[in-house]
Amino acid sequence: MADEEVILQVKNLQTYFMVDEGIVKAVDGVSFDLHKGETLGIVGESGSGKSVTNLSIINLIPNPPGKIVGGEVLFRGKDLLKMPQDEIRQIRGNKISMIFQDPMTSLNPYLKVSTQMVETIMLHQKLDKKAAKEKAIEMLMLAGIPAPEKRIDQYPHQFSGGMRQRVMIAMGLSCNPEILIADEPTSALDVTIQAQILELMSDLTKRLGTAVILITHSLGVVAGTCDTICVMYAGRIVERGRTADIFENPRHPYTQGLIRSVPRIDKENAYRLYSIQGQPPNVIDLPDCCPFYPRCDRAMDICKKKYPVSVKAENGSAVSCWLYAEEH
Ligand code: SF4
Repeated sequence: MADEEVILQVKNLQTYFMVDEGIVKAVDGVSFDLHKGETLGIVGESGSGKSVTNLSIINLIPNPPGKIVGGEVLFRGKDLLKMPQDEIRQIRGNKISMIFQDPMTSLNPYLKVSTQMVETIMLHQKLDKKAAKEKAIEMLMLAGIPAPEKRIDQYPHQFSGGMRQRVMIAMGLSCNPEILIADEPTSALDVTIQAQILELMSDLTKRLGTAVILITHSLGVVAGTCDTICVMYAGRIVERGRTADIFENPRHPYTQGLIRSVPRIDKENAYRLYSIQGQPPNVIDLPDCCPFYPRCDRAMDICKKKYPVSVKAENGSAVSCWLYAEEH
């Protein structure tokens, strides 16, 4: 762990969406801690609840149809879910900032990058315009934008996809946040640019001491970037632990399947890539059993009747699966 100091505690978070067909339990009892300077990966298929978890952390769930129905999100001991809106607005973009998959959804195409960055820095850092622009140029330079003093006065469409994501990283880190939430930050980029952006993000956040929550569907992305991993399935964390432990000894059958489906260049013998059979479950009115059982080749009778207990191992990792219930 980068540092033992816990800066964010998510406790039994529950976020539901009330739709005509029933209740979608998008996030149902998620808990984890984030330490200072740690990079935590949240991995899962589409619809597993990873993005909703992070939107819940910064209290940005559209209500209706969504509602955070339970749990706590303690940022330095203060519950963000109980904070008045004007107070949490001071935290969003300042102490906790976010970057998304497509920078064009966050950047205003009609405004120059300078306007967008300088206004944010002035608002949150209480700097005058000149100092804010200097800070913005410094951040663009750190993010690897060539000739930042010229490019800052360009519009978002004048940047390539990879360069726009660099601008987003520079914006996200410009107010020295304690936490950066990055939601699939490289999914829209081609593979070589992905690697550069991940390396840049990792390098910058380590240098600035920022903790990161990296949301991704790809275990390949978390392998080289994250200290710890939470694997989500159907709105819950099914396995969590240090990245090295999870890759060396994945315990949940779903994690095992995910790892077997990642191409490995370090394996001598090429092998056929595994694919997990079946589809993710429909999360409307899910019964309280193991939601992975229709896809699990080790399922037992109890898996269809009760949700598995969470079992902790000596190395601090935890798994929710009936195969390990005896260790409980
Ligand atoms: Fe498979 Fe049962 Fe474990 Fe679920 S609880 S992953 S069905 S063995």
